[in-house]
Amino acid sequence: MSGLRLITEAGNTPMEPCVRCLAGGCPWDHVAGNPMCPDCQEALALGESEPLRQRVESKSCAICQRAGTLPYLTYPLHAAAPVEIDLCGGHFEALLGRRLGRNSFRVLERQLQLLGVNVKQIFLLHEAFYDRQGRSLQPIPQT
Ligand SMILES: [Zn+2]
Ligand SMILES: [Zn+2]
Repeated sequence: MSGLRLITEAGNTPMEPCVRCLAGGCPWDHVAGNPMCPDCQEALALGESEPLRQRVESKSCAICQRAGTLPYLTYPLHAAAPVEIDLCGGHFEALLGRRLGRNSFRVLERQLQLLGVNVKQIFLLHEAFYDRQGRSLQPIPQT
């Protein structure tokens, strides 16, 4: 089973406020099931805020197929439905920190294309952070 899918079923509540700072007004990405604004995602990636305490799911990582994942749900620009990506701990952190390896980026890009989603529509895979070869341009500095 693919670790990457479009979520089309009803019952989505995209306008839920950020679980950490309670900012509202936008459909935030869901980090391990919780809506989280970009500022709080960045703080999390920098290790400046409470780390995630979330039980891993027994699915396979969309990139490396390793079992034990956290879901990352994101609303691509102009897309009707959000995309959910299952990622193992390492790839989850790499995505949040904008430092996916080139091969990992490519694997995600290919799978998104199969769903009809362009990586440019996904905030964390945006071309401001990765060049066309999938090299990370603006990684969040590691502490
Ligand atoms: Zn927030
Ligand atoms: Zn992985």
